[in-house]
Amino acid sequence: MKAVFPGSFDPFTKGHEAIVHRAIKYFDTIYIAIGENSSKLNFFELDKRIKHIQSLFDDEKIKILTFKGLTVDLCRELEADFILRGLRDGKDFEFEKSIAQMNYKMTGIDTFFLLTNEELSSINSSIVREIYKNGGKISDFVTNSHILV
Ligand code: ADP
Repeated sequence: MKAVFPGSFDPFTKGHEAIVHRAIKYFDTIYIAIGENSSKLNFFELDKRIKHIQSLFDDEKIKILTFKGLTVDLCRELEADFILRGLRDGKDFEFEKSIAQMNYKMTGIDTFFLLTNEELSSINSSIVREIYKNGGKISDFVTNSHILV
């Protein structure tokens, strides 16, 4: 079984990292797919985000790629069985529920959800960016954060 874990990962936090570590036992391959979404302005440079994520995993079952367009189209291209997503709270659930149901309706591809580890559930990429922009330390939230800058 193969799963695609899509996201902006701007940056890839300890929360994302834990989801991948926990999910890998259920899949033969996880593709961490960094979306290049035209409507979202990214903060950390794409090549640094790629290098950063590469530094976190030493497992040939975990592959890193970038994509444009719909996650379901990427899944079809890679012949992936599931979309992997992390859920932090009810807000994530409400948002993810609609996307997952629409993706399923369009293609029959299911979404595999894991609840965030409790101690990581407050970590949010956009807050991490704000901390960084204002000169704060992000290493508590992002492993190997030095690679991003
Ligand atoms: P997007 O741009 O699609 O919102 P993100 O990069 O913010 O992507 O997140 C990708 C996935 O990781 C989403 O399923 C999101 O809910 C999940 N996620 C974000 N932060 C955490 C966290 N702290 N713990 C676990 N999962 C998380």
